[in-house]
Amino acid sequence: MTSGMRDEVVGKLSGKTAVITGGASGIGLASAERFAAEGARVILWDIDIRSLDLAASRLSDAGAEVLGVQVDVSRRTAVEQAVERSMEFAGGPITVLMNNAGLPGTYVPVLETEEDLWDRVIGVNLTGPYQVSRALLPSMLEVGGGVIVNTCSIASFVAGFGAAYAASKAGLLALTRELASDYGSKGIRVNAICPGAVETGMTRELFSVGDEELMKPINSVPAGRHGRPEEIAALALFLASEESSFIHGAAVVADGGWTIR
Ligand code: NAD
Repeated sequence: MTSGMRDEVVGKLSGKTAVITGGASGIGLASAERFAAEGARVILWDIDIRSLDLAASRLSDAGAEVLGVQVDVSRRTAVEQAVERSMEFAGGPITVLMNNAGLPGTYVPVLETEEDLWDRVIGVNLTGPYQVSRALLPSMLEVGGGVIVNTCSIASFVAGFGAAYAASKAGLLALTRELASDYGSKGIRVNAICPGAVETGMTRELFSVGDEELMKPINSVPAGRHGRPEEIAALALFLASEESSFIHGAAVVADGGWTIR
């Protein structure tokens, strides 16, 4: 699904093409909207074709130049095919990547974390960004620059989100640092966003249960509420743009103050 050319927008990402994985909903979609509003051509990668169609139409109706690509980021061959389609659409380098696709927290103790759950969560949340970064880095290196923003979590630092999820997000933060260290001198900046509880499809069901125990930490964070996807998107835009030109390998926390308590 591809929209036609739109009026030229001059913004913080003018002339750039961005791939946003998990771009069909929540934080990814909000980020795609901000990137597009700042002049980027956006390519949404997502496994959920229905949400992907809706998201691409929404962006296109708003005047964005957008392509939706159905892909499972945990599968290398699928990622390679998605890169091919995306390159054709971009017609030039893809220099902005947001590794954002993710499966939710698992909230079960280690002994109840079966191997298939572990493999699935690590596959999407950690192997996915590894595969996608490896697939898009060569073209960034070719043009001498690019930006990668990885959606980690406060689970990268604190316990209580389930071993598979926490390990995937701590691993993604480590991957962020390694990428930043390996390619920073080649013009590629890589940073992590670590959100706290943000109201998206991933968490809505959980929060709507109204479980007092689950809600306790949210009610007691300084912000006293969940975050909104747009509040994380603002950070993604900052890290994707030249405004953050001296920031390499950082983990930027946006959690309403959860982790200071
Ligand atoms: P979301 O469910 O709205 O978005 C996740 C997207 O990833 C969905 O569109 C989903 O279809 C897609 N996806 C899942 N598996 C995929 C796969 N194998 N290949 C491609 N796409 C796939 O939830 P969200 O809250 O917007 O999550 C975005 C990111 O933010 C995730 O990485 C999540 O772990 C992280 N995060 C969310 C919160 C929160 O409270 N919502 C907090 C911290 C971190």
